[in-house]
Amino acid sequence: MIEIEIEKIKELRTLLEQSQRLVLLPHTSPDGDALGATGALADVLQSLAPEKEIAIVSPDPVEDYLSWLPLGENFISFQDQKERALQLVGEADLILHLDHNQVKRVRYPELIEAIYKNKEAKRVLIDHHELPDKDFDLSLSYPELSSTCELTFMIIKALEWDKPFVSSKAATLLLSGIVTDTGRFMYACFYPEIFQHFSELLALGANYPMIVDRLSYHNKEAQLRLQGYMLDEKMELYPELGAAVLTLSQEEMQARGLSKGDTEGLVNLPLTIEGINTCCFIREDKSQVKLSFRSIGDFPVNKLAMKAFGGGGHINAAGGEFQGSLNDAKNIYLYELKALLEQK
Ligand code: 5GP
Ligand code: MN
Repeated sequence: MIEIEIEKIKELRTLLEQSQRLVLLPHTSPDGDALGATGALADVLQSLAPEKEIAIVSPDPVEDYLSWLPLGENFISFQDQKERALQLVGEADLILHLDHNQVKRVRYPELIEAIYKNKEAKRVLIDHHELPDKDFDLSLSYPELSSTCELTFMIIKALEWDKPFVSSKAATLLLSGIVTDTGRFMYACFYPEIFQHFSELLALGANYPMIVDRLSYHNKEAQLRLQGYMLDEKMELYPELGAAVLTLSQEEMQARGLSKGDTEGLVNLPLTIEGINTCCFIREDKSQVKLSFRSIGDFPVNKLAMKAFGGGGHINAAGGEFQGSLNDAKNIYLYELKALLEQK
C-alpha cells in the first residue's frame, strides 16, 4: 500500500491554511491528468475557503479534446491572459506545481521568472514523475502512483478536513486524470488500491459514463483520417529494434487543419503490432520539434528522453523537445535507442 507521508501532509495542511492567494500550475500543453488535478484541487480548496483567491494558471489553453473537463471559472492560461497570469503568480503566497517535476515544464521564460521572483510564496510540488527538482519548499513526489489525480485524491483524503468537500465535479476531474494517464486502466495501474480509489470516486459522483463517452466518441473526422494516413503512409518499423517511428510535419498538420491535440494517442498505435515494443512520435510544431515516446515492458523511454532530448517522463511514457529538423530528431532517436538497447 502506497502511503502519503504524514509529516508532509501536516506541513501541506499548515501551508494551505496559512495562505490567502493560491496559484495552481499544470504543465505546458496540459493533459487530462494535469488539468484534472489542478481543477479538482482548486475546487476542493475553494469550497473549503470561499474567501481565498484561488487560481489555476495554465501555461497553455485547454486543447479541444479536453474542452469537456468541468474546469471552473478560476482557470486562466498564460497564453490567453499574460498580464493577469503574471500578476497572479507575482502576488501569490502559495504556488502549487501539479503533474510536473521540473519548473522548466511551465515552459515560458516570463512565467518561470515570475515564479522565482516571488520570494514571498512557498512552492509545493504534487507529482508522480521521477527525479523532481530539489528546490521546492515541500515535495509530495510519488512516482509509483498512476497519476497526479490519484495522488491528489489521496492527499485530499489524508488532509482529513471534516466536512464533505469532494464535489461530483471534483470527483469527475480526478477520475478523468486517472483514466487518461492509465490509458483507460491499461498501464501504470497494476495495484489494487487504484481500483479502490476508482470506486470511491464513483461513489462521490464522478461521471464515468461521460468520461468514457468524451474520450471515445468525439473524435473529429480529420483526426481519425490522420490515424489512417499515419499508419498507412508514415509509419516506419524497425523490427530489429522492436521500434516504430511516426513523423508529422507542420505542412501536413496545416494541410489537414489539425491542431496539436488532434495527434493525441497516435504514438500508442504501433505498439499494438506484435514485436513492436517502443514507439516515437515526432511532430513539428511552430517553434520546435516535439517528441513523444512510449514503450511496453521494461524499456525506459524516460531515460532516452532525458539523455537525448533533455526531456523526461515515466518508464513507459515520456516526452522531449528538439530544435532542428524532423529527420535529425528521428536519427538521434534511432541512434540513442540502439545505444540503450546494446547496453542492456
Ligand atoms: P506525452 O507524450 O503524452 O506528451 O507525455 C508523456 C509523459 O512525458 C508525460 O508524463 C509528460 O509529463 C512527460 N513529458 C512530455 N513531454 C515532456 C518534456 O518535454 N519534458 C519532460 N520532462 N517531460 C515530458
Ligand atoms: Mn500525469
